[in-house]
Amino acid sequence: MSASKPNVVFVLGGPGAGKGTQCANIVKTFGFVHLSAGDLLREERSKPGSEFGELIEKHIRDGTIVPVEITCSLLENAMTKNEKNNFLIDGFPRNQDNLDGWTRQMGDKVNVHFVLFLEAPEDICVNRCLSRGQAGSGRSDDNPESLKKRVVTYNNDTMPIISHFDKLSLVRKVDAAKGTEEVFDQVKEHFKGFVES
Ligand code: UDP
Ligand code: MG
Repeated sequence: MSASKPNVVFVLGGPGAGKGTQCANIVKTFGFVHLSAGDLLREERSKPGSEFGELIEKHIRDGTIVPVEITCSLLENAMTKNEKNNFLIDGFPRNQDNLDGWTRQMGDKVNVHFVLFLEAPEDICVNRCLSRGQAGSGRSDDNPESLKKRVVTYNNDTMPIISHFDKLSLVRKVDAAKGTEEVFDQVKEHFKGFVES
């Protein structure tokens, strides 16, 4: 993390909305650092001897949300380790606990620029995750049972967080039901303020 306050863009949307894919594009074009909360949790889960491994795996399979202290510390560590100034935080904050914990721990340390909201119908999102599972994503939650629960969590817990940011005029929405390139054309419009690399 550089001396000045780092810039943060949150990337939200349902499971399978394309957050990871679009973040990779933003990294390539605009030089952001991509921090996926889900990937950081999966990495922590897989560390030999991690005291949180079992807890994280249970939440991931059940589609519920890991306590914010764990996720937020993983995010903060990843930011502190990095020299760069522009961060995409993908898949976080997902519920009120996440938002409160983030505000407590990180509120004064970063500038949240906006929330990129990838909006796509539920059936499209679910089918993308199921295809990803069948194609060998190796994720323990890309199966029909976990997906049902992930969708419930998204609708009940994450949508209200997106509404919260929308009331603050921080949400920039794109139609994520389209193909990857068309979606990225829309995404780019929102990053115009950041110099293309
Ligand atoms: N997760 C969590 N807190 C986070 C991000 C992810 O608890 O801040 C857990 C949650 O159980 C979620 C799972 O990790 O269902 C997978 O999240 P990821 O963002 O990888 O899934 P995606 O939405 O990208 O399919
Ligand atoms: Mg993801």
